[in-house]
Amino acid sequence: MKRIAILGSTGSIGTQTLEIVRDNPDLQVVGLAAGANIDLLEKQVREFQPRLVSLQSEADCKELKTRLAGSRIDVQVIPGMEGLLAIAEMEESEILVTAIVGMIGIRPTIAAINKKKDIALANKETLVTAGHMIMPLAAEKGVSILPVDSEHSAIFQSLQGENRERVSKLLITASGGPFRGRTREDLEKVQLEDALKHPNWSMGHKITIDSATLVNKGLEVMEAKWLFDMDLDRIQVVVHPQSIIHSMVEYVDGGIMAQLGTPDMKLPIQYALFYPDRRPMAGKRVDFYELGTITFERPDLETFTGLKLAMRAAAEGGSVPTVFNAANEKAVSLFLNRKIRFLQIPEIIEMCMDAHKKIENPDVEEILGTEQETYELIQSKV
Ligand code: NDP
Repeated sequence: MKRIAILGSTGSIGTQTLEIVRDNPDLQVVGLAAGANIDLLEKQVREFQPRLVSLQSEADCKELKTRLAGSRIDVQVIPGMEGLLAIAEMEESEILVTAIVGMIGIRPTIAAINKKKDIALANKETLVTAGHMIMPLAAEKGVSILPVDSEHSAIFQSLQGENRERVSKLLITASGGPFRGRTREDLEKVQLEDALKHPNWSMGHKITIDSATLVNKGLEVMEAKWLFDMDLDRIQVVVHPQSIIHSMVEYVDGGIMAQLGTPDMKLPIQYALFYPDRRPMAGKRVDFYELGTITFERPDLETFTGLKLAMRAAAEGGSVPTVFNAANEKAVSLFLNRKIRFLQIPEIIEMCMDAHKKIENPDVEEILGTEQETYELIQSKV
């Protein structure tokens, strides 16, 4: 029996993780945390019977307790950050799935590593902003950071059995999003509904917009830098619209290892949960006869300036990736609420990066302080 806890159980990655639990009776859920989706969390509690759960607000926690009062389920409900930390540190859990969205994931991830829990990491913001703390801490505690992001899982799978010293570069594939091939002029007119139509993947709203701006690819480059301890100039983004190759590793002899499959997040989630084993999984398989052609392109950095800005943030380092990420989070939320246009997302990120005075090795307080300052700057200007 493998015991797991999930932060963000009501989201896209969280619910898919629970589908895997349903299919694998030797997985047991001991803790679940959600934000505000009380109805779904209640259903999850009734089905998976964890010992500890959390919702963001105290009122929602009270409501959940009232709803569960008649049942015989023995579950503790703790609100907010206290709840996230308690779930991250649970004695009985072996692996923490960080499927929460945003920098709120930093503290619980650090807490879980300190308690020697392995991490199945979906919450890329944690590594983007605090990779300089998370990776050395994981090494010190002997904890595995198992990537859930499909690109990083593909790289991780392509590294198995190989000598890491012999890697020459990482190739991160990108679908190009719904606006691949468009000009800046076209992008002036795009609407929220267009941006939410991802060609291949079905994901949460925030990451779907990040895919349309290519900011997601930039965050993934930063995530890869930390996960695989790789210099930026040895990480290359390749646009591959069919999303069949999920990423690749090139070795010093020119050989390239890749991981392929249909676009389904359940594979990388399951791989992280059972690593180094592979379990059977139902689902569509790649049919190469049907597929016919796969193609590759260079990313258009002049149209999708979000990726260019991400590269700049990654190169500057320190607190700059935090500014990049926080500005993007706020700008995407404004876009989702129809308050700004699509092209204003990278404009806002650039404005915040230009205004920021870099902190070289930020600690958690400084990261969260930088996030807050960035939000305030946007509030005052936009
Ligand atoms: P969703 O928006 O679908 O889900 C986010 C989850 O986090 C929900 O369960 C939400 O709860 C919870 N949450 C949000 N804020 C809080 C909070 N303050 N306290 C507690 N819980 C909170 O996101 P995704 O599943 O799409 O993404 C999760 C992470 O995984 C992100 O970092 C994303 O970049 C990454 N990722 C996602 C992929 C995907 O395919 N979706 C692929 C690769 C990486 P509630 O809904 O109850 O409010």
